[in-house]
Amino acid sequence: MSTEPLQVFGISSWHRHWVAGQRAHEARVPCGTCTLCCRCWDEIPLTPAEARRLEHRQGKTGPALPHKDNGECVHLQIDGRCAIYDTRPNACRLFDCRVYLAVPERLISTMTPTVRALQANAASKFALVLKEPSDHTFADRVTAALTEVSRERIGEPISATTVLRRMR
Ligand code: SF4
Ligand code: SF4
Repeated sequence: MSTEPLQVFGISSWHRHWVAGQRAHEARVPCGTCTLCCRCWDEIPLTPAEARRLEHRQGKTGPALPHKDNGECVHLQIDGRCAIYDTRPNACRLFDCRVYLAVPERLISTMTPTVRALQANAASKFALVLKEPSDHTFADRVTAALTEVSRERIGEPISATTVLRRMR
């Protein structure tokens, strides 16, 4: 993950609220076979304990997962699976690209290409969800989580209408 947008938006801080909102609304991201966030992050942060645990697999320690020259995480396999899925870092477990849908309009132009790609991906995923009538309850839950996190952490409420517009 690029560190710049994290610092600019303070996502590491309000991401915790996003995750809490997700859990409260039972709205985990429907990744399916998508692996975009495993392929476009520059750095995936590790806690010291995670770094120690992964040391034997990576051959070195550090504050982030190493990545290949093409931007892929070194643990992403050719078939799209994660080689360390059961012990993947917390950042991987908690990441949800839909959080970028809550970024205020005025900040979108400052987003890096990587974050824009994640936001576009999220919009596309939501569109897929909304095309399925049976998933409308799920979409409602996600919208509720988004409005909650934007109000709580950005201090700039985003309306459900805006979120829905971005999802189409
Ligand atoms: S980019 Fe979004 S949908 Fe794709 S794997 Fe990551 S969190 Fe899931
Ligand atoms: S550790 Fe696994 S889940 Fe995390 S970015 Fe790498 S391949 Fe993806």
